[in-house]
Amino acid sequence: MTENRRQFRAIKGTRDILPPESALWNWFEQTARNTFESYNFREIRLPIFEETELFARSIGADTDVVNKEMYTFSTGPDADTKEEGASAQTYSLRPEATASVVRAYIENGMQTLPGNAKLYYVGPMFRRERPQKGRYRQFYQIGAEVLGQSDAPAIDAEVIEMLMTFFKRASLTRTTLYINSIGDKNCRPQYVELLREELRKVAEQPPAGSKLGPDSLRRIDTNPLRVLDSKLPEEQAIIAKLPRISDHLCDACREHFAKLKEELSLRGIAYEENWRLVRGLDYYTRTTFEVIAEGLGSQNAVCGGGRYDGLVELLGGPPTKGIGFAIGTDRAILSIQESGKLPQLPALAVFVAWMGQAAYPTAVNITRKLRGVGLAVELPAEEMKFKKSLGLADKLGARYALIIGEDEVNSGTFTLKHLADSDQKKLSEFDLLEYLESERRDTRA
Ligand code: AMP
Repeated sequence: MTENRRQFRAIKGTRDILPPESALWNWFEQTARNTFESYNFREIRLPIFEETELFARSIGADTDVVNKEMYTFSTGPDADTKEEGASAQTYSLRPEATASVVRAYIENGMQTLPGNAKLYYVGPMFRRERPQKGRYRQFYQIGAEVLGQSDAPAIDAEVIEMLMTFFKRASLTRTTLYINSIGDKNCRPQYVELLREELRKVAEQPPAGSKLGPDSLRRIDTNPLRVLDSKLPEEQAIIAKLPRISDHLCDACREHFAKLKEELSLRGIAYEENWRLVRGLDYYTRTTFEVIAEGLGSQNAVCGGGRYDGLVELLGGPPTKGIGFAIGTDRAILSIQESGKLPQLPALAVFVAWMGQAAYPTAVNITRKLRGVGLAVELPAEEMKFKKSLGLADKLGARYALIIGEDEVNSGTFTLKHLADSDQKKLSEFDLLEYLESERRDTRA
């Protein structure tokens, strides 16, 4: 193949979401919007790229996301920035959106707005991970954040309730919600030190049959909490014996966690406690949670979330409490598909089978009216033979063929053929519109 005729392919780790699957995506995202708005969350639309420094500072320099996975590029100074000494900028495609939400909160002075800022976002994220089932380099998240002055456990519980309500409405029901508390700046440092000491001991004298891998050994110094995340089989026996944060929470954190559990019970939300669920970043405080779903193999986390009371200050804003989550849309959709519980999605309602030039103006006219009442209608651009027309209607999955030929034009009626059972009726325009509209209302109800 010569170079100028080569075919292009989507870049590794990216993919096209094609119809009809895209309808499932739209439905899933719309269900999220409806659910979140019923909890009085409002959408925030954010840039796809930000200063690299924003992510480095908020996500943390010692994380895989920042160290290895960001798509980073530099540009020279803006052509219109004529300032002396204007330097090159380094930007990154966003690997997540919490940092951007917090940046926007501070930049737009949202702390002056009444009540808490309750925001949600929908869109693509970019991480240069090794692609596999449920893991992509461009993937999609739906997330929500609450920022404000209060850290009441009822806020955490409402956020979790909203998440689980959404999953239920989106027929993602084979899920497990895990929760944990990782303490705050009063109690976590002592726990982390204790963990570090224990890890040093086992690193020097590993018990028979177990040992810490290179990542965990490195994390003893940089971020020992992350060792608890490890899925390596040879580390599990060691981790099982490590001290647990629940035994080391200060009174305020223990009380907060107990209240959260009460609040979840009040809302009828089933959960499991998982003491190993940590978000290994300094600014995370107290509540962490995760939802896993069936049918996904090893990449089974469909949502991660937690409280981050220190983040706004870390990014130069006023003291502010925060909590949020991010749902992995790609995985959630995969799990719904695997469960086979697919919703009824809008399909082609009517295929207009017109024949003869005399029928054409009538066909154009009625098509516009049917579309006007919200029906999906296909109007062939060129005349087709009757058989071919009905064959195409069938292949396109139309529910009805609307037949308009010489007879129909002369009698001022339409023939509506239900394709599944070939049942046919002759209707006036008025009756046709009324019939199809009421049927659409019934199927939506
Ligand atoms: P995180 O920001 O890492 O806590 O991710 C939140 C959620 O996003 C995870 O639970 C996953 O469902 C999803 N997610 C994270 N990374 C990827 C990826 N590379 N591909 C697909 N989904 C992802």
